[in-house]
Amino acid sequence: MSIALEHVSYVYSPGTAYEKHALKDVSFEIPQGQFVGIIGHTGSGKSTLIQHLNGLVRATSGRVLYEGQNIYEDGYNMRELRTRVGLVFQYPEYQLFEVDVISDVCFGPKNQGLPQEECEKRAREALEHVGFPEKYYKQSPFELSGGQKRRVAIAGVLAMRPKVLILDEPTAGLDPKGRDEILDQISELHRKTDMTVILVSHSMEDVARYVERLIVMNRGEKMLDGTPREVFRHYKELEKVGLAAPQVTYVMHDLKARGFDVSPDATTIREAAEEILGSFRRSGNI
Ligand code: ADP
Repeated sequence: MSIALEHVSYVYSPGTAYEKHALKDVSFEIPQGQFVGIIGHTGSGKSTLIQHLNGLVRATSGRVLYEGQNIYEDGYNMRELRTRVGLVFQYPEYQLFEVDVISDVCFGPKNQGLPQEECEKRAREALEHVGFPEKYYKQSPFELSGGQKRRVAIAGVLAMRPKVLILDEPTAGLDPKGRDEILDQISELHRKTDMTVILVSHSMEDVARYVERLIVMNRGEKMLDGTPREVFRHYKELEKVGLAAPQVTYVMHDLKARGFDVSPDATTIREAAEEILGSFRRSGNI
């Protein structure tokens, strides 16, 4: 059970003056249940890439496999794929339109042809997953705060019970508190379910704290792919392409260079604190 890209390339407006090679020979396989971050700065191909995963964009060359099946095969059920692989676009709150929150979240399951009662059940479950308070279920989505709107929009995709959830910059435009709350909730959701979560972000710091695997995109190519630790070992290469490792990685490398007995691989503040304490313990300083 997985979702995979095999040698995928994508060209916008081929043969015109606007021709743009947005993806170049990208391959990877994401097993069911993995929590993956896709990182890269603006224009590196992240959005184009994720739109291949649910068939919204068709590769110029290469294949996309969902659960081992080539999604470009004749007769492949794309509609079904789009309910299995849920995509939450950037600023999804602009796509809210129903009279109240619960109707908005019901929209997806209703479209799947499910009876009203089942739609509501799924909508409530999805809203709970994103920590949306029940007292606002009957409120117009337009009267909510930015963070709450974002939750409703994510719940709208979750209500279709996807096996794979893709979030394109889910925290864009939110304040730090709203950002942490949303990411914590997504992480909790991933812990509780067997859902694959693919988080697109340009912030290393955000993603390193949550994901088990990082895929780094640069100019349409897959540049690095590994655990955050493995990826941030290449921090000098990341810098060269305008991406930075989390601040804490730099601190640890500095400490190491100054003779402290620490592993510079820490990618989160907690890991760094443990490393530093361990170093003090080893040297008999505490
Ligand atoms: P990211 O999500 O990492 O910002 P995108 O996938 O949006 O990157 O874009 C990759 C490249 O493709 C960029 O150079 C971008 O300008 C170009 N691009 C994106 N969408 C279009 C489009 N609709 N038409 C032409 N070029 C596009």
